[in-house]
Amino acid sequence: MKLGDPLLTLRPPRTCIVCGSPHKGDFKIPNDVWITVIPTEYQNKVVCVECFGTFACEKQIELFRVHRPL
Ligand SMILES: [Zn+2]
Repeated sequence: MKLGDPLLTLRPPRTCIVCGSPHKGDFKIPNDVWITVIPTEYQNKVVCVECFGTFACEKQIELFRVHRPL
C-alpha cells in the first residue's frame, strides 16, 4: 500500500511571499539577476513576476542614485 505521492504531498502551495497572490506561471530569471534584485529575505521564497518587476524598478532607482555624482 502506498501512503500517497510524496511529490504531491511535499510540494508547498506556490503563492507570492510579497503580495500573497497565486504564482502566475513560470518565469525564468538568471540567478545573478535574482540575487541582485530580490531582497535577501525573499530569495528562497516564491515571488511573482509582478513583484519581481517592482523590486527591479526599485533597484534601478537605487543604482541610478549611486551612479549620480553629488
Ligand atoms: Zn507578488
